[in-house]
Amino acid sequence: MPIYEYECGLCHLQFERKQRFDAEPVALCPKCQGKARRVLRSVPVIFKGSGFYITDNRKGGAVEKAEKKTPDKGKREEK
Ligand SMILES: [Zn+2]
Repeated sequence: MPIYEYECGLCHLQFERKQRFDAEPVALCPKCQGKARRVLRSVPVIFKGSGFYITDNRKGGAVEKAEKKTPDKGKREEK
């Protein structure tokens, strides 16, 4: 069962509450019995969004060097 973090709307007490995943995001403050709402913690990993997208997907980056076989012109200096 996941543990959710709540913050009381009245006294701003923060507490954790085990709840089912599909439970309503409402809990009662253990201190003042006020309505507390679920605090969604963002994932601590922050992507600063630079160079993360790899759009430069070059498949077979090696340029195909077309081997142009120059036909042998048969330069024969026949004396
Ligand atoms: Zn409270």
